[in-house]
Amino acid sequence: MKYVVCVPDGCADEAVAELGGQTPLEAASTPVLARLAARGEVGRAAVIPAGMPPGSDVGNMAIFGYDPAEFHTGRAPIEAAALGLELGPDQVAYRCNLVTVGDDGTMVDFAGGHPTSSESRPVIEALQAELGGDGIEFHPGVEYRHIMVAPGSWSDADCVPPHDLSDKPAVVPTGSAAGGLVDLMDRSRAVVRRFGLKANQIWLWGQGFQPQMPRFAKIYGLEASLCSAVDLVRGLGVLTGITCVDVEGMSAGFDTDYEAQRDAALESLRDGTDVFIIHVEATDEAGHAGNVDEKVKALERWDRDILDGLVEGLDELGPWRLLLLPDHATPLRLKTHTPDPVPYLLVDSAVDGPGGSYTEAGVAACEPVPGHLLMARLVRHR
Ligand SMILES: [Zn+2]
Repeated sequence: MKYVVCVPDGCADEAVAELGGQTPLEAASTPVLARLAARGEVGRAAVIPAGMPPGSDVGNMAIFGYDPAEFHTGRAPIEAAALGLELGPDQVAYRCNLVTVGDDGTMVDFAGGHPTSSESRPVIEALQAELGGDGIEFHPGVEYRHIMVAPGSWSDADCVPPHDLSDKPAVVPTGSAAGGLVDLMDRSRAVVRRFGLKANQIWLWGQGFQPQMPRFAKIYGLEASLCSAVDLVRGLGVLTGITCVDVEGMSAGFDTDYEAQRDAALESLRDGTDVFIIHVEATDEAGHAGNVDEKVKALERWDRDILDGLVEGLDELGPWRLLLLPDHATPLRLKTHTPDPVPYLLVDSAVDGPGGSYTEAGVAACEPVPGHLLMARLVRHR
């Protein structure tokens, strides 16, 4: 038996006026998805446990079959794992954004003008040289997203994610570690500004100790692999012993090579992997950008360039089961994530399910299932 998990990040949405009052899932032409839903089981998944932040870290942790309420410690340590950093028990990782804060203290750009990785690396290296030491370490990551490691005593702080502060006053952290954090953010200005980028300081947030997650193979008795261009998702793979497959042409943007991600899944399953997770970020990006066309197009590309050939390829390999759901909703109207339950689809190649429609309205009457229980249902693990 082969198992596939499809994650169109943030694809769930609301009725959109430009789509004549339909949601992107309703408006997109997705004949393969419709066919699978008609013979599978659709329902609603609570991927974000009550009271937890509606992020891809929490939602994907649930999809991977781990209860975020038990295992989630913060976003940064998952990204640190993706960079290959191993935290000691007395180290806490912070996400270190390069950001642009206006002279009036407004968060102008949480992504600091989107520097490239090669533009930002020397900035992080300079921060390490000038502000590092005494247990503080700056590690270069990707584009505007970097990691700061600090002693465990620095963990107590309430930090606002910079993307929640866009065009608002940049509210500094509170809590017992706030003094040190604010001091570093203040002192970072003199360093960052020397590089002539749009970014003019760092923003520290999303901290946590390294989560202690048992290996996927140990819990489910199956070997799993994944492909994703997103650090958070790859980091979850590192922390759970799920192999991260590199795919040429895979990106976190609208231009990702869908067919290459599909082929990587089929190749890995053919080579002996039991479970393959395909994560594509484009739907979430479109949601954040409020880009209706790209969100619909991304769903149509899922259908045409992934699901169609995937089903065909899986049929050649023997019996299979497939789970499809996003890690959270990213409504176009809000341009950010919500914690609302999302539609899920579970299909078995050999069993006709009750059938339904894979849309928000199609599952509105279903009682939400905790998202982290779906992996066990997919692989029928007791
Ligand atoms: Zn997002």
